Amino acid sequence: MRPRKVPLRKCVACNEMMPKKELIRVVRTPAEEVQIDLTGKKAGRGAYLCGKLACFKLAKKSKALDRALKHPVGEDIYDRLEKDFVAVEDEFIAAKELTPDEA
Ligand SMILES: [Zn+2]
Repeated sequence: MRPRKVPLRKCVACNEMMPKKELIRVVRTPAEEVQIDLTGKKAGRGAYLCGKLACFKLAKKSKALDRALKHPVGEDIYDRLEKDFVAVEDEFIAAKELTPDEA
């Protein structure tokens, strides 16, 4: 049996290629809302960040999400996302530990 190909995505903050499940997806919905998408299935334009707060802070500083989403992301939205990011970080890590082999 051939090893399953792991889908890779690039973190928009540090530009590292990572397996998709190691990344947190941020989506710009068709309603122009920018939000964190833990399911990875929401409609809209997505950008990926390592599941690390350090990378989120880097993205905020460099406005990497603005560029990745092709949409101006305001300071207030970054602030809200940062709070959400902290909130989902534990959940994200726990989920990864629960299903270590599923993509
Ligand atoms: Zn990163």
